[in-house]
Amino acid sequence: MTPKVARYLAEMEPATPCLVMDVDRVEQNYARLKAALPLARIYYAVKANPAAPILERLVGLGSFFDAASFQEVEMCLDAGAAGERVSYGNTIKKERDIAAAYARGVRMFAFDSEAELLKLARSAPGARVYCRILVGNDGAEWPLSRKFGCEVEMARKLMVQASELGLDAFGLSFHVGSQQVKTAAYEAAIAKVAMLFTDLAEAGVKVRMVNLGGGYPVRYKSEVPEIGAFGDAIMGAMTKHFGNALPEIVIEPGRFLVADAGVVQSEVVLVSRKGEDDPVRWVYLDIGRFGGLAETEGEAIKYGFRTPHDGAEEGPVTIAGPTCDSTDTLYEKSNYRLPLALRDGDKVELLATGAYVTTYASQKFNGFAPLNEIYI
Ligand code: PLP
Repeated sequence: MTPKVARYLAEMEPATPCLVMDVDRVEQNYARLKAALPLARIYYAVKANPAAPILERLVGLGSFFDAASFQEVEMCLDAGAAGERVSYGNTIKKERDIAAAYARGVRMFAFDSEAELLKLARSAPGARVYCRILVGNDGAEWPLSRKFGCEVEMARKLMVQASELGLDAFGLSFHVGSQQVKTAAYEAAIAKVAMLFTDLAEAGVKVRMVNLGGGYPVRYKSEVPEIGAFGDAIMGAMTKHFGNALPEIVIEPGRFLVADAGVVQSEVVLVSRKGEDDPVRWVYLDIGRFGGLAETEGEAIKYGFRTPHDGAEEGPVTIAGPTCDSTDTLYEKSNYRLPLALRDGDKVELLATGAYVTTYASQKFNGFAPLNEIYI
């Protein structure tokens, strides 16, 4: 938690559940990523947190943006980004949304199928397009495989076709999965893309850009490698495979830029046991899966906790949300332990919750008020 967030929580005592985000921290993360990958162009993955104060700060820093929908395109434009700084990176788009983005100046689009390519040729004539390929997601705590990307052989054919259709066959992309903790995942994906570059050059298509996607991890409950290790591995692989003829490098970080800028503060609603001798307490918070903590699905993302009793004796807990739905259980199998002194009314903080929380929060499931968002 940044000192600014800690001070805000102590002084303002906001209503819970709330997310407090330190926008300066987003700027620091942007600078850290730039330092680790100075040759890469940063396209912030807006889906991680589309709040205007974040987008506006990034516009001021000269960032580019990866939008998943026309609505996200509009959010970027409203925040002051020029259309040519926005990439429409979802491979699944309605044709009218492609046309609307094109009309607003967007000139870069992703695809991974012939049907999508034909939509782009019709509704974004002459635009820069890039094909997403399937790559391994091993090592990712939140995988993004299967649903997106196509086989390399198909990508080769589609890029040739893109050129024939009058589009600018600009680049290739991949995503190694979100919260990717293995640098080798990027190295393997870059090797795959490089081979396709060579094949396409032989087919007469001069591809000029590699989009390495997102995935750069943040520290939750466990340590992860430093961003510098990812920068070194990526640039090592790029140099190994492309030599001096480096293409334009694009990255689409989401989580890395915003996660550790935010903290969710929650109130403990109830601490109970299922039997008198049950060693495991159930701790019910006023935020759960439907309040925004969707990435606890399958206990994939394991948030760190702070409580007012940290340092005191701990015991095992199951942590759950407040709704009358049993899937609203956050951690049952991940061996969480919290202080024995914890009781209802205590405020607890869930750390590094600035990414993929606000947009998942339901508006009134079970009647609970939506997550209170505060940007400082
Ligand atoms: N780019 C694309 C196309 C994505 O789908 C995502 C996440 O879903 C991202 C970038 C951001 O990934 P991350 O938050 O892991 O950096």
